[in-house]
Formats: sequence, structure tokens, C-alpha cells
Amino acid sequence: MATERLFGGIEAGGTKFVCGVATSGGRLTARTEFATTSPRETIDRALAFFDGQANRHLISAIGIASFGPVDLNPASLHWGYITSTPKEGWRNVDLAGSVRQAFGLPVAFDTDVNAAALGERQWGAAHGLDTFVYVTVGTGIGGGGMVGGRRVHGVLHPEMGHMRIAHDLSADPFPGSCPFHGDCWEGLAAGPAIEARWGSKGQELPADHEAWQLEAQYLALGVNNLVCALSPQRIILGGGVMRHANLFTLVRRRTLELLNDYIQAPEILNRIDDYIVPPALGDNAGVLGAIALALEIAE
Ligand code: ZN
Repeated sequence: MATERLFGGIEAGGTKFVCGVATSGGRLTARTEFATTSPRETIDRALAFFDGQANRHLISAIGIASFGPVDLNPASLHWGYITSTPKEGWRNVDLAGSVRQAFGLPVAFDTDVNAAALGERQWGAAHGLDTFVYVTVGTGIGGGGMVGGRRVHGVLHPEMGHMRIAHDLSADPFPGSCPFHGDCWEGLAAGPAIEARWGSKGQELPADHEAWQLEAQYLALGVNNLVCALSPQRIILGGGVMRHANLFTLVRRRTLELLNDYIQAPEILNRIDDYIVPPALGDNAGVLGAIALALEIAE
């Protein structure tokens, strides 16, 4: 096995970076994580991790799954950059170029959610599917996915979290927390919105709190839109908010109610528990997604 090819991955998050090395089968042989500080310090720590791998010469490519917004246009001079992020110091940072220059290896680059979607397809909850969506509900809402076996890239990349959804102000007067749109999907349903609306973090709210019915309503509205727009074969919901015990049950039920039997697909009508699902790769979804990106360009 000494000559088995290896693949590197960097999950570049706004809070932490996770770096890993894995086999083509997705088995991690090394992994580390550290807080995201200044770009120079953080990128240097990532480079030092790969530099310190004894079997570094076996690494064929490195994938980067980055927080955004990012420039994914291969024809752009700023491909591989983090662009207009509000995160202090990280605007216009050449993340992919720094890694490529350090090692001279092929470097793949995509959004964190697109990469996580690819990882779930390779080794997780979307295995064998070619049209599906991965949505993470945490400090924000991000969505990525594949259509017809390709990750979705258009002029930029999907920003599913900023979809507009129905907001009944008489039932929920909270104006929303998105600095750009107020009551977009993220502004109504991400973790900070729950905390701002109810005065407690989601994990501190009891299971029978009315917050969860409202949260399920908002998540189901977004899921309903994704079902209607992309006709996905499955929708994966991840992120900290989805860890709340009963939320999947509520979202599945509410999604069926909102669709109201209009879409006559047995995958949805008869197998909703297998249609709206949690990710299978858990805490390693991000770094394995980055490694899946590397695998794709190395082949
Ligand atoms: Zn927004």
C-alpha cells in the first residue's frame, strides 16, 4: 500500500480550517484543525500541515472547500480567491494560488457547500445520485449541489440561503437578520435568526417550543422551492440547527403539506424519510468534500 495515491483537502471555514489527507476511498490518514485567524497565519498553518506529511510525495492533488463568496471562474485572474467576504482581513485573498505555488500540485477550488455535496455523493448520503441538493443550516444557510452529475456553477455559484421565502409578518414580526435582505431564507431561519427572535440560542430552546414549528415552516418553504426549481432526487440538510432532535420530522411533514400532492413522485410522497435526510459524513463532510474535489481533478 506504500504507493497508494493520496489526496489533500482543506476545509476553509470562517471559524476554523480543517486539513486532511485521504486515500481515494475517502479514508483519512491525517487530519488537523485550527482556528481561522489572519489569512497569512492560517494559510501558513495549512501549508505546514501538508509539508509535514511524511508521505507528502504521494499526494496527487489538493482540494479546497472555501467559505465565500469566492471566484470560481477559471478564466478570471482572481480564480481561487475569496472575494467580497465581510470577514475581517479576508477580502481578495488568493487562497488556491497560495497552495498551488507552495506545492506545485493541481489545486481544485469550490464553495464549502458545493464541495460537501460532492463528498456526500462520493461517500455519503447522495451516493449514486446525479441531481441533489445539500443545504447547511447553521450560522448562515448555504446550499450547493449537483444537477445531471455536475456541480452547479453559473455566473457565480448558488446562494440558496438568500432565496426569498414567504414571511407572514402578523405571525412572525421578526424582520430577519440578513444584512443584505432582512427576511431572506437565511435571515429568517439560520441560527442567529432563531437567537435574535426568541432571545435564546436554538440549542437552549425546549423541544416543544413554538420556535421549532416556525423553523420547520421556514425550512420547508425553502425545501419546497428547491424541489420545484431543481427536481432533486434527494435533499440533504446539515449544520448545527438541524441537530435539534425533532426538526427533521417537522420539516418532512411540513414539506409534504406545502407541496400538497402536486408533485407525483413516489420518492417524495412515499419515502419522505429517505428524501430529506441528514448528511452521512458528519464532522468530516467539509474536509472529505475538499478531498473529493482533489480526486476529481487528479483523475
Ligand atoms: Zn440574504
